Amino acid sequence: MRRPFIAGNWKMHKTLGEARALVADIKDGITGVTGVDVLICPPVQLLFPMAKAVAGTAIMLGAQNAHEAQSGAYTGEVSVPMIKDTGSTHVIIGHSERRHIYGESGELLSKKVRAVIGGGLTVIYCVGERLAEREAGRTFDVVERQLADAVSSEIPPKALLIAYEPVWAIGTGKTATPEQAQEVHAFIRKWAAGTLGADAAEGLRILYGGSVKPANAAELLARPDVDGALVGGACLVGADFAAIISAAETVAAPG
Ligand code: PEP
Repeated sequence: MRRPFIAGNWKMHKTLGEARALVADIKDGITGVTGVDVLICPPVQLLFPMAKAVAGTAIMLGAQNAHEAQSGAYTGEVSVPMIKDTGSTHVIIGHSERRHIYGESGELLSKKVRAVIGGGLTVIYCVGERLAEREAGRTFDVVERQLADAVSSEIPPKALLIAYEPVWAIGTGKTATPEQAQEVHAFIRKWAAGTLGADAAEGLRILYGGSVKPANAAELLARPDVDGALVGGACLVGADFAAIISAAETVAAPG
């Protein structure tokens, strides 16, 4: 049984005061929840204060991106050792906004994945097709290529989570149906079995992302290969994020 994992990607939202209020609301909303791994990924300047805000709780902290080098003349960038310094344990790599707004290539993402894992942190590697690719019947080809770009047999499986985020469902209010999500998650697990081995694939947590909200979380999380969620918009409201976490706990241990 894979332990559910719910991650919140705050993107470029929240000032310090707003962030403190959000974490307080999340903490209030998940009192008593013990069966779910919870991660928040605030903007990078909030990592140190948010480490303080979540201290003493089981809420984990992650970054939304990292540079592939350890240090150097890279204005505006942040490296894995710097992120690790904040107490963060995870880094999101390959989010569709990084791929499609900032043009991050498979080659670059592969370097970033290696930098995160080499630095002792866990990577959440995002994959997902665009609407035109889905409509052209290319979903599996696109996802397979994105996986192959950055995931290979030398990656320690415990340092990896995959997030399947169909680009057409991110921030659009359109959610993949539970059947569509399950179909791609099962494909990813099968691919992982061939690349990382059967045991690693069985333990691999595959998160779904794309307009997850309290109203649809339970039905998505109930699918056998949907092990959690990467949440954008709904993680910015403490009560909504907490409701998604509670849904994950209920689905994993009904009653
Ligand atoms: C995301 O950005 O990873 C995401 C899934 O956003 P939203 O939940 O808003 O679709």
